[in-house]
Amino acid sequence: MKKNWFKVLACLLAIFVLAACGKSSSEASKESSSSSSKEEAVSGASQKTYTDPSELKDSYDVIVIGSGGAGMTAAISAQEAGADVAIFEKMPIIGGNTSKSSGGMNASETKFQKEQGIDDSNDLFYEETLKGGKGTNNPELLCYMVDNSAEAIDWLDSIGITLSDVTFSGGFSKARIHRPADGSAVGGYLVDGLYNNLMEKDIPVFVNADVTEITEKDGQANGVKVTVGKEEKTISAKAVVDAAGGFGANMEMITEYKPELKDYVTTNHEGATGDGIKLAEKLGAATVQMDQIQIHPTVYQEEGKAPFLVSEAIRGEGAILVNAEGNRFYNEMETRDNVSAAINKLPEQYAYVVFDQQLREHSKSIDTYEEQGMTVKADSLADLAKEIGVSADNLEKTVENWNEYVVDKNDTEFGRTTGMDRDMSKGPFYAIKIAPGIHHTMGGLKINTNTEVLKEDGSAIPGLYAAGEVTGGVHGSNRIGGNAVADIVIFGRQAGTKAAEFAK
Ligand code: ADP
Repeated sequence: MKKNWFKVLACLLAIFVLAACGKSSSEASKESSSSSSKEEAVSGASQKTYTDPSELKDSYDVIVIGSGGAGMTAAISAQEAGADVAIFEKMPIIGGNTSKSSGGMNASETKFQKEQGIDDSNDLFYEETLKGGKGTNNPELLCYMVDNSAEAIDWLDSIGITLSDVTFSGGFSKARIHRPADGSAVGGYLVDGLYNNLMEKDIPVFVNADVTEITEKDGQANGVKVTVGKEEKTISAKAVVDAAGGFGANMEMITEYKPELKDYVTTNHEGATGDGIKLAEKLGAATVQMDQIQIHPTVYQEEGKAPFLVSEAIRGEGAILVNAEGNRFYNEMETRDNVSAAINKLPEQYAYVVFDQQLREHSKSIDTYEEQGMTVKADSLADLAKEIGVSADNLEKTVENWNEYVVDKNDTEFGRTTGMDRDMSKGPFYAIKIAPGIHHTMGGLKINTNTEVLKEDGSAIPGLYAAGEVTGGVHGSNRIGGNAVADIVIFGRQAGTKAAEFAK
């Protein structure tokens, strides 16, 4: 009953909003500025230097809290719009959860989709995200995100961050998730590329700079208190962008909003403590959907090792999930909440991601899984089954059936329709043991499409903008894989631009 109402609501929202939403990407791109510099972003350039604290000024036009994808994008965009901007990052290194992002960035009507003959539309991107979020996504925010997605892919490309490999994400009927050309994880590539731009544009990045307060006068944000090293300083600003990320590593907050998650591991970096939400709440900011916490189905979590996410893109490229008996048990390309629930329903509450050498060669992100010792590898399926302790007969039969479904493009067992472009026939074969883990906090600060932070009564807090995981609403109750990177880049750009405009 409840589910039907969600569907009805989703459809009503979609019909109501699409009238205002269906702006094509080419129209959207005409409205936005785009950088002309075409620099090569160096993937894997891990050695980074940051601004010396002695260079900290007393005031900036715009201060950005947090150096994840949203913060760095906001800073670059603020400078493009003419602002003097600085980033404060509390950790010793930049990147936040963005660094850990393994999939890609969803976007529709992009040049890369067109080059590859993928016929997609902003309206379909909207509808499928709304369906994935069970109709609870904020329609205006979602509309803004899809309409500006292709332009954001172009903007990234123009600054040397090229996401040209397009594949499937769970819950989508079109290949829409954009990744680096070599199929490597998007996070490191994006962070390195944005960092290179910050350096090239002389945007100061202060690390070990913990923002403890957003200051205000007469209700208007006018700077921050920040502890740099051991010294607390008050720095003034005409506008503040809060891009401090989510609270997926703050178990106190997680269990406050969702007590049943108390025993879950988290994929989040240790700085994901929800500071940005608390800082803005002190200025009267409202929050939305705080109990919407995403569990990712495929997290490697062996005893004594740091939990590590196995990207959904691996399934999008053709991997399957098998249970402890060596059998498939669910449509692997269903949305994250449903796949997680299916794993949790298994008596063993874990599963294996299984793939072959063809997929291994296509997906560079698997290099990392191998380096981390996560993969089990064997020359034959029977040997792989032995290694992971499942029935060889079952695993061989499972893969034999799967290969038939791929040929027929018809999964008669579980109705999977995407990620079926290659069969599983070339050894060696691989398996990674996974189980669900806390991955993303979908709720957060209430914002509008100008990224202004809103109070409970819907009025904006002057001078305060927010973007990325610190905000709530765009993903509803289930985020589709690839929509976090879309969120941080698209709303990060908007926050930087709007904060700079406010600062003028
Ligand atoms: P998003 O994906 O929204 O960009 P990330 O998690 O990638 O979010 O980045 C958020 C960044 O904000 C992290 O690097 C985190 O360490 C930083 N951060 C969180 N709280 C503070 C704070 N109080 N002061 C400065 N930086 C902060």
